Amino acid sequence: MARYVGPSCKLCRREKTKLFLKGERCLSGKCSLEKRSTAPGQHGAANSKIKEYGKQLREKQKAKRYYGLQEGQFKSYFKEADRIDGVTGENLLILLERRFDNAVYRMGMAESRKEARQLVLHGHFRINGKKATIPSMLLKKGDVITLREESRNSAKIKELIEGLENRIAPKWLTVDKDAVKATVDALPVREDIDFPFEEQLIVELYSK
Ligand code: SF4
Repeated sequence: MARYVGPSCKLCRREKTKLFLKGERCLSGKCSLEKRSTAPGQHGAANSKIKEYGKQLREKQKAKRYYGLQEGQFKSYFKEADRIDGVTGENLLILLERRFDNAVYRMGMAESRKEARQLVLHGHFRINGKKATIPSMLLKKGDVITLREESRNSAKIKELIEGLENRIAPKWLTVDKDAVKATVDALPVREDIDFPFEEQLIVELYSK
């Protein structure tokens, strides 16, 4: 299935929750969801009851859109989460959180996961000193993300570095803001993912 290229805010309205897809705008009064909370479309304002399947589907869509994934990619993460030891729902969120693009966003070097994905694809970052351009790479304990030296000349990157001061990284990442460097101190745990996912609903959906 093709990547969604429509308006990001429409996705938040569909999920009736802020998915934080547009950086600073999401935290401002310009947030479309704050102005208009009904779902998009002709019947968006209808107060329809969501059945169990609908709830499970919406939760899956929410997680998929929050991390900016396509259907097939999301399903692959679920299969992997189910295969490894532990609680499947938690495994799923932890795998998603370990993605390289997510870590770039979480360290504060992008305003959204979508922007982080673009910056990674354009080769602005390195992992353990080596060129890394695959947004889906899963980070391991001890991995170090650094900015490519030449990228410091980019106006956008300069702006992001200035903004680092106001960003708070999650516990699993130690960020050296002067060096623009993030170290994976430990793999993330469920408590590090502050979005209120009900991951059990996703497990139920895929277990049918
Ligand atoms: Fe969602 Fe951000 Fe748009 Fe608000 S501004 S609706 S949080 S993408």
